[in-house]
Amino acid sequence: MKRLISFLLAPLFFLLPGCGAQEAEEQFFSMDTVMSIHTYGSGAAEAAASARREIEALDAQLSRTKADSLISQLNAHAGDGTDVAMDADTARLLAFSKSVSQLLPGDFDITIAPVMDAWGFTGEDRHVPDSETLSAAMALVGSEGLWVDEAAGTARLERAGMAVDLGAVAKGYAAAKAEEALREAGVTSALLDLGRNITAIGPKTDGTAWRVGVADPENVSQYLCILSLEDQTASTSGGYERYFEENGVRYHHIIDPETGYPADSGLKSVTVISDDHLLADALSTALFVAGPEEALEFWRSREDFELVLCTEENQLLVTEGLEAGFTFTGEELGYDCQIIRR
Ligand code: AMP
Ligand code: MG
Repeated sequence: MKRLISFLLAPLFFLLPGCGAQEAEEQFFSMDTVMSIHTYGSGAAEAAASARREIEALDAQLSRTKADSLISQLNAHAGDGTDVAMDADTARLLAFSKSVSQLLPGDFDITIAPVMDAWGFTGEDRHVPDSETLSAAMALVGSEGLWVDEAAGTARLERAGMAVDLGAVAKGYAAAKAEEALREAGVTSALLDLGRNITAIGPKTDGTAWRVGVADPENVSQYLCILSLEDQTASTSGGYERYFEENGVRYHHIIDPETGYPADSGLKSVTVISDDHLLADALSTALFVAGPEEALEFWRSREDFELVLCTEENQLLVTEGLEAGFTFTGEELGYDCQIIRR
């Protein structure tokens, strides 16, 4: 199990502070991935346990493979006109996800679920769908058919067969809720690894920033660069995370909502760094689909995140806000690095 965990954690790594301070660790499986929470300072153990409970409770509501989750209820009522009761968290997350589709149309859509099913990504039987199956699934995608009333705490899917999949945002939201739980318990220094979403709470107990590595998509035990994080999330999306091969072609799990096929935008991975944990997760998925030009154009239009783009041409494009705490380690691996200015 230990070997499995260290492998799964490999996409990003972190250097823990020295011993001495009170510290605790929770390692568990949730949201289809191995997660870990490291906490420091007084109340570290209770805080870590409370953050874990928060994440597990969210998983129970947001998973579409758990029959009694809120999202399963929403999906089950697609097309029958029912306004399905959501809790405040879930309604907020649905509304946020819809807003990302409006910001980056054609890149991001949580109603992609029927297409994920067509490719078999929801279960074990992964395969290239036939064109009829794929077109039928694609006809059900479109978040304008997802209605969310945050004030009333309800949501509705307009057409039968539509379904929501929160895989692109659930871990970022979990990070935000876990941070709330940690801070409520008095913890101000912690590191969460929620499966390619690394969240640094505060600085390390010695006052210095956390150091987090961005994995080489070709070999996740090696690192392209090291970032300094403090009260931020680094969320990575890439085609290397979950995929299958058929007739020598590799098919991964991040779908271009315009084609219904795995996104092929010239990127191997996207890492988004932001103090908004949920935004980091949503944007890493969306900008992986968008590709390097559109991703950088979107970055230039906003001030609330930074990027590390790893292109198919083995170029690391790093936005200037990261420059100060950044170490490039990808040269020996055959990568070039370029700082991108506004
Ligand atoms: P992430 O690992 O955060 O990039 O999320 C990938 C997951 O998001 C996939 O496993 C799907 O559940 C879901 N997904 C795939 N493609 C899209 C898309 N274009 N928009 C929104 N969600 C997607
Ligand atoms: Mg994401």
